[in-house]
Amino acid sequence: MKIQEFYARSPLTYSFEVFPPKTDRGVLKLYDTIAELKALDPSFISVTFAPDRTNRDRTFQIAAHVKKKLGLESMFHFTCIGATEEQIIQDLDMARALDLENILALRGDRPEEAPSAPVRNTFRYAYQLVLLIKDRYDFGMGVAGHPEGHIECQDKEQDLQHLKEKVDAGGEFVITQIFFDNGYYYDFVERAQRIGISVPIIPGILPILNLTQVKRFAALAGATIPPNLARHLERLGDNDAAVRKLGIDYATQQCLGLLEQGVPGIHFYCLNRSASVKAIFKNLGPRWFSGNGNEEISKEKVEVEMVKDQVYGVE
Ligand SMILES: Cc1cc2nc3c(=O)[nH]c(=O)nc-3n(C[C@H](O)[C@H](O)[C@H](O)COP(=O)(O)OP(=O)(O)OC[C@H]3O[C@@H](n4cnc5c(N)ncnc54)[C@H](O)[C@@H]3O)c2cc1C
Repeated sequence: MKIQEFYARSPLTYSFEVFPPKTDRGVLKLYDTIAELKALDPSFISVTFAPDRTNRDRTFQIAAHVKKKLGLESMFHFTCIGATEEQIIQDLDMARALDLENILALRGDRPEEAPSAPVRNTFRYAYQLVLLIKDRYDFGMGVAGHPEGHIECQDKEQDLQHLKEKVDAGGEFVITQIFFDNGYYYDFVERAQRIGISVPIIPGILPILNLTQVKRFAALAGATIPPNLARHLERLGDNDAAVRKLGIDYATQQCLGLLEQGVPGIHFYCLNRSASVKAIFKNLGPRWFSGNGNEEISKEKVEVEMVKDQVYGVE
């Protein structure tokens, strides 16, 4: 099923994002985690893509497993930076042969050592990928949005025009980059609608797991960590269990605010963990997440997960 159909027909579509582990053992462990996430009855699971294309097969393999073995819709992420049209077509033909139906069409982050001038005949921006997909394939297609403006673009309004370009080219929904102040998201949606972007804009929520990691992600994404949150995080330092608990509470509050504003969906950056989202769902209760048949999660189960996560650590 195409992802945009979920947004069109359900009052609240929620989804979880995972990344492909580097080892086969890691993939098996991820399958267990996804099976646990399935108990929360999401509409779909999305699987990230490494812009150096080294993990392409795993991205496709996991997205196909979710769809065929777990009976859940999936969406694979796909980046185009530095790739030729020929490579892209080869990859997308492979995805289609696996019966994958949905794609998040992205540029990908520039590798730091990459020259700023593009190599001839390679893709530079996501809208070029969107145009190619629209021309040759029948994937349900989302694109990325940046509530605080993309980090490389000095002018937020121009960045928004670039988003419009992707939507006009065929993007059917937008999933946002992480943000920690809902005000950025509301402002972004309002400005996007004002310039004629009418597709659903889905907030992307990151339950914070670890201080160093969140600082790195925020810097990469150009997301502001509000001073209050930053102070709390610094106070907890490397006490990961306490940081995780703060992350759950903070994301719960963010979600509550968004849900009360009537957002069409929430996309959770799970980082291959289930415990935090389970706890967030439990905090918010079935009032919000029963639309997709969400099962009740017992307190005991969440606590067991927390302990398990502390033992495994972040991959
Ligand atoms: C939900 C989500 C999932 C993600 N998943 C992945 C993933 O799996 N793998 C991964 O590598 N990355 C992922 N990313 C990160 C993403 O690849 C980066 O944010 C990347 O830097 C920008 O991607 P984009 O598709 O928004 O690029 P674009 O839309 O191409 O924008 C990139 C920059 O180019 C500018 N620009 C766009 N069009 C033009 C134009 N015509 N002329 C001049 N400038 C232009 C924009 O303003 C912006 O500054 C994800 C991001 C999000 C929000």
